Amino acid sequence: MGFAAPAPARILNGDPETMDTVSRTAVFFHAHPDDEALLTAGTMAMLAAQGHRVVLVVATAGERGQADLAPGEELGEARMTEVYKSAALLGCARVVRLGYADSGLSSAGGIADDRPANAFIDCDTEEAAQRLAGLLKEESADLLTIYDPAGGYGHPDHVQVHRVGRRAAEIAGTGIVLEATVNRDPLLKALRLAGRFYRFPPEFDPRTFERAYSPDELITHRVNVRRHIRQKRASMAAHATQATGADVRTLGVFLKIPAPLYRLVFGTEWYVRRDLPLGTRLKHPFDPAPPPGTDPGPDQR
Ligand SMILES: [Zn+2]
Repeated sequence: MGFAAPAPARILNGDPETMDTVSRTAVFFHAHPDDEALLTAGTMAMLAAQGHRVVLVVATAGERGQADLAPGEELGEARMTEVYKSAALLGCARVVRLGYADSGLSSAGGIADDRPANAFIDCDTEEAAQRLAGLLKEESADLLTIYDPAGGYGHPDHVQVHRVGRRAAEIAGTGIVLEATVNRDPLLKALRLAGRFYRFPPEFDPRTFERAYSPDELITHRVNVRRHIRQKRASMAAHATQATGADVRTLGVFLKIPAPLYRLVFGTEWYVRRDLPLGTRLKHPFDPAPPPGTDPGPDQR
């Protein structure tokens, strides 16, 4: 399911010799509508603005979030409407829904007992990976983003995105696999600061970020997305309008962070590329891997 056919690669600046001038394809794989807003929206907007083809894949429609809906409104459909809006704001060429059911969370934040039949965490990983690999091949994807093995803050569907995504890239031979993450150090600082100005909703505990995502030293890519910060904020806002599930409430809290601080915290997006040595510091998703033994140097930090 999607809304555009893949376009052939095209030369951006007329110089076929230089890889940087060639339009490439990046597939952003997310568990639920709204995950793209927090983790990768700036990178998506940047790549689209640079002429690359950006494809968003969601494993589920996020239909297990809690929400205040109008009578008769169905959460999964409402959230898909939001994700199409977010994708359009970011310049995505195509949105694909894999069609698994949102596995939800138990009240303790673990695996829920009352899962729907087609829950993403119960799927055959190999079969799901084959499906995603089919899309990666169809799109001739140069890059796939997934999550870290812990699934960021640990949602079981996010852990599954890691498993399925890693295997799909293997099958399709996708060259660059980036694990989208958050540098938790500046995020914790901003939340502490924001906590002085207003009261967080009771179900939002900033301490959950203390062990989530990644510490600074594991991160290989720091992508400056400040030029696209308005699009990122608009993407978050697209999700915060209708639904009020747990992730979306988090987005609501982030949207209350004052603009200059928001720019500071969300103006960078972070990725871990596991096939690069620890200490690698790159600025762009398509940056070539530095030759072994290269000192990244202060200008790369
Ligand atoms: Zn999610």
